[in-house]
Amino acid sequence: MHGAENLLEEGVLWIGRGFKVRFLNFAAAKFLDLPLRHVVGRSLDAIDHSVLHQAKELLIKSGEQGCAVSQTLSIEGKGYFELVAEERRRGRGVVVLRDRTDQRQVIEMGKAFVANASHELRTPITIIKGFAETLQDVPNLSKEVLQEITEKMVRNCSRMENLVKSLLTLADLETLPASRLQECDVLSVIETCAHLLAPLYPEASLEVCTYQDSALLRADPHILELALFNLFENAAKYSAKPAVIAVDVLVEGEELHIAIKDQGIGIASQDLERIFDRFYTVDKARSRKLGGAGIGLSIVKTVVQKLDGTITVSSEMGKGTTFHLTLPLKGVESF
Ligand code: ADP
Repeated sequence: MHGAENLLEEGVLWIGRGFKVRFLNFAAAKFLDLPLRHVVGRSLDAIDHSVLHQAKELLIKSGEQGCAVSQTLSIEGKGYFELVAEERRRGRGVVVLRDRTDQRQVIEMGKAFVANASHELRTPITIIKGFAETLQDVPNLSKEVLQEITEKMVRNCSRMENLVKSLLTLADLETLPASRLQECDVLSVIETCAHLLAPLYPEASLEVCTYQDSALLRADPHILELALFNLFENAAKYSAKPAVIAVDVLVEGEELHIAIKDQGIGIASQDLERIFDRFYTVDKARSRKLGGAGIGLSIVKTVVQKLDGTITVSSEMGKGTTFHLTLPLKGVESF
């Protein structure tokens, strides 16, 4: 059996004549951090709590307007709340406190995402605009300078293009339909990734170690490839040349384990838990130079979650990094 406090999530206060508290539930007592005996029987403005003072003002407003009114507020250490009040007569009414902390976090995350994306896009736009103005204002630039400028403009256009592509991929992943999932062999996806990686990082070597002939999963092969490629590319990017990347693939029971191990620069422990966040980079300047904006690993994590799997990372500075993926094999037998 659940306790009553679990069933009624809203904080509820029943207010009697003269704005006296007649009753409050467990949730209200918890949100306000007030023991019931300090509140019941006392007038809202006689209790030392700013939320209750605001509740009284809201009740008065509700009485004036003849309908329920609400406002949002924060309670220190508790989060964000919607305070709703409805007054009937001479202070009598009801006050409800709804916890809106989760909703607020989603809104804040959305705002941060837009701010980060805009910032990342603005930088190359500013650079391209500056060079375009130079081309417009300075006649007779030498052939070498012209070439240098156009190269930089093209590089920054590519940077924007990559960023927009990554953002669209993230949006696409959110709405991935189940119809795109099909049987795919992880070993052949890894092989495709190796072919894609070779021309970009000719000195990097991908060494696959497995006892499996195949490793079948129910997934969208393109997004699985995207996730694995991101991990291989990072392993190559963040290693001294020639990068050696070891890939272990193992089927154990109902799970597929993939470990991607490099001998690169490593990741400091304080960065480890943040590297999967959107736009998080350990060294912004270095990532930009290498053509990244901190989106790659957030795409990887989203893909892994979509496949009901998990991803963890372990690393030692100067020694290397290993990403461990665990993906359920479920669903394959239904083909
Ligand atoms: P980006 O590579 O564009 O910066 P990612 O989301 O792919 O963005 O990675 C986030 C950060 O994690 C990178 O900035 C990098 O510092 C770190 N990182 C990722 N993979 C590795 C790796 N294999 N070795 C060392 N650092 C890594």
